[in-house]
Amino acid sequence: MASGKHFKYIVLGGGVSGGYAAREFAKQGVQPGELAIISKEAVAPYERPALSKAYLFPQSPARLPGFHVCVGSGGERLLPEWYSEKGIELILSTEIVKADLPSKTLTSAAGATFTYEILLIATGSSVIKLSDFGTQGADSNNILYLREIDDADNLYAAIQAKKGGKAVVVGGGYIGLELSAVLKMNDLDVTMVFPEPWCMPRLFTAEIAAFYESYYTNKGVKILKGTIAVGFDADANGDVCTAPKSEFSSAVLIAVKLKDGSVLEADIVVVGVGGRPLTTLFKGQVAEEKGGIKTDAFFETSVPGVYAVGDVATFPMKIYNDERRVEHVDHSRKSAEQAVKAIKGKEAGSAVEEYDYLPYFYSRSFDLSWQFYGDNVGDAILFGDADPGSAKPKFGSYWVKDGKCVGAFLEGGSPDENAAIAKLARAQLPAASPDELKAAGLQFASKI
Ligand code: FAD
Repeated sequence: MASGKHFKYIVLGGGVSGGYAAREFAKQGVQPGELAIISKEAVAPYERPALSKAYLFPQSPARLPGFHVCVGSGGERLLPEWYSEKGIELILSTEIVKADLPSKTLTSAAGATFTYEILLIATGSSVIKLSDFGTQGADSNNILYLREIDDADNLYAAIQAKKGGKAVVVGGGYIGLELSAVLKMNDLDVTMVFPEPWCMPRLFTAEIAAFYESYYTNKGVKILKGTIAVGFDADANGDVCTAPKSEFSSAVLIAVKLKDGSVLEADIVVVGVGGRPLTTLFKGQVAEEKGGIKTDAFFETSVPGVYAVGDVATFPMKIYNDERRVEHVDHSRKSAEQAVKAIKGKEAGSAVEEYDYLPYFYSRSFDLSWQFYGDNVGDAILFGDADPGSAKPKFGSYWVKDGKCVGAFLEGGSPDENAAIAKLARAQLPAASPDELKAAGLQFASKI
């Protein structure tokens, strides 16, 4: 068994939050040897959203070190050397399998132990797999998922091996939409399958979704709505492929069986049906809420000295006076910074303001790019040019609740226009009538 190591601060998870926490620790001041980042992944923290976008581009795909944090928010890239220069220990390829909060000890799969004074939990999410629902044949190695860089490498290899082939994307959320676009850009024949009546139903209204679905259809992506994949057979002999993923077989054709009895053939099946926060290590040791680890406005959990940030944290959403968990990159960055400020502020005896987050989410695919700020509750009012055939479509939606504009979505906005809708969602200004809002369109946000 490897010997134990002690650190003043440990960040568990070397993803987006882990990287932004490291930068904030460096800003606030840490002594060499005080801070360790422990990560299951083999690489230093990077901007995860790149994996479903530029990482899979057919030409000049993004590769590390190009997208290490903190480039995603316009900052300096933190290369592995940066951590060593700062005396921050990056402990990679190390999965923690046991966390004992009373003794402040983490144990790795290899049996190494790590003790700490302050722990920051930044373990993110894992993908929900179709095998979790018992879908027949879903444990085949040729059914791919995307969460970490190894998954993206597998998918990239599959795309190279199956050029001109057929891809089935299971799931109609933003991962499904981004993956369908990038697979199409790689010249695959792409079919999206999802059970809901339209794509991205958690955010998009039927009108917003209609734009994206038509745009995708015009690009040649086939969309099958209102059905699910109920089983997979991996080749003509009915054998489920057992080759390791790295040896993605070029011979295997997967039969994707749908609920309505029809069957799709696929060379690649990729599934994006959501994530689940990785909180298992802490079950029974910290208070939980809404599927995440409950924190205060400084991301401290029910256990003093233990903080939780990013996808795993359920925190007070001050603006709406409720508690939420947010699985988006902007929050993972900001929550990590807030927690570190709070940790260092506590040590210095200085006050830190409560986290006051305005939900922000974005996605990009093909030539499209949208941003959303605020809350998508109440009545949605569509404005602008939502014609998928337009040379440069630009449209948006406001959400109005109790007479106030609480959320705003914009496709194709400039940085200034996106800033304007953010300001509007933050201010929650009284809304005009639906007809006036529709007619004013972006002007309504821009005049604030
Ligand atoms: P992560 O970034 O997932 O990092 C968690 C880290 O912890 C990982 O490195 C993991 O290996 C490690 N870990 C977990 N358990 C252990 C353990 N037991 N031991 C050691 N290490 C462990 N959001 C947007 O707003 N816009 C987007 O366009 C967008 N695109 C995305 C595309 C993809 C493909 C994915 C997967 C996510 C995307 N997101 C996007 C969501 C965003 O990336 C996440 O919300 C964000 O990464 C969460 O940060 P995190 O630090 O909490 O978790």
